[in-house]
Amino acid sequence: MRSISIFGATGSIGESTFDLIMRGGGPEAYRTVALTGARNIPRLAEMARALRAEVAVTAHEECLPALRDALAGSGIECAAGAAAIAEAADRPADWVMSAIVGAAGLVPGLRALRHGGTLALANKESLVTAGPLLLATAARYGATLLPVDSEHSAVFQALVGEDKSAVERVIITASGGPFRSFTLEQMQSITPAQAVKHPNWSMGQRISIDSASMFNKALELIETREFFGFDPDQIEVITHPQSIIHAMVGFCDGGIMAHLGPADMRHAIGFALHWPNRGDVPVERLDLAQLASLDFEAPDPARFPALRLARDVMAMRGLSGAAFNAAKEIALDGFIAEELSFLGMAEVVETTLSQLSRQNSLQIDATTLEDVLNMDHLARETAASAVKSWQQGK
Ligand code: NDP
Repeated sequence: MRSISIFGATGSIGESTFDLIMRGGGPEAYRTVALTGARNIPRLAEMARALRAEVAVTAHEECLPALRDALAGSGIECAAGAAAIAEAADRPADWVMSAIVGAAGLVPGLRALRHGGTLALANKESLVTAGPLLLATAARYGATLLPVDSEHSAVFQALVGEDKSAVERVIITASGGPFRSFTLEQMQSITPAQAVKHPNWSMGQRISIDSASMFNKALELIETREFFGFDPDQIEVITHPQSIIHAMVGFCDGGIMAHLGPADMRHAIGFALHWPNRGDVPVERLDLAQLASLDFEAPDPARFPALRLARDVMAMRGLSGAAFNAAKEIALDGFIAEELSFLGMAEVVETTLSQLSRQNSLQIDATTLEDVLNMDHLARETAASAVKSWQQGK
């Protein structure tokens, strides 16, 4: 029986993973080692009971009594805190879903790789923050790292059986989000409630807002660079409002392989779950005649500066990805708390990167977890003071 763990089980990706596992036979077909969540204790407990997990972990100590109550009599172990989540990743499982949101997903992912199984990586922040470290850990322990982000799953699928040296370019698509046709003027007054409404995808709050600002696409540019090792100038972004093509790979003979699929993350999760085979996944099948047309346009760097910042990070490498992600997380917190405007997020990230770059803090190779976590911490402090300065200058 295959063993699995889901980190971030109660989130959008976690729910889709749970759905596929339950449809695939649930506890009769899979032995569930660990399920983790944060604040949604009723759902975490419900999932843990349904899958008969060995352990359920919440990120927050104060949620532990509620988790214990909800799992009373089930025989399922309960634990709480970031260290307990990392310890849950020390329990071997054949297939692990990494779907915690933010840099908090890095340590559990690294620890899970040490068992040499498969890590299905939805948590793009860990590749952006510590790509070389993650890949080196996977190689060292003979683990398989599979992309779950739809664009990266699409690139991965387009590359099956291909010689990577024949690749000329990789094109990842962006829906353009809810503000694709907003003017700069209109973008000055965007609220969190508007930004969270994605036109095509149903996702967690943070990634939905990141999609609207194109910070999500910026993370994905860096993720493409880190995961596949292509040069930055081989990687392009194209706005494709229908979100049907997720990515394309162009080869040296001029041909392009495009990956099409519905805007349903269960396709990419299912691909990672069944790899190296394909399994049935209950997503809607595309009706191309009904779709009729697929549109493309170049993204506007003036309205979406996150893409330019990602290019700077790809050129700089070192610890700049860790700084970029941490500053982005602080800026996003500021926007959600209505302390920072929508466009102010990019200003805060840019200020953070340039301050840290002037101190020569970014041009250091991200070889140890300690280096990465120190940079994460420093960038969060720098970004928090940039948010304060932004408010004072408003
Ligand atoms: P959600 O916000 O929906 O879920 C996040 C999960 O992480 C929840 O289980 C949440 O628990 C848990 N969590 C929150 N904070 C912490 C913390 N500090 N420590 C441990 N666990 C925590 O996110 P998504 O599912 O949308 O995204 C998850 C990851 O997948 C992100 O990295 C995202 O970029 C990536 N991704 C998501 C896609 C999508 O379609 N949603 C597509 C591609 C990639 P709780 O809910 O109990 O509070």
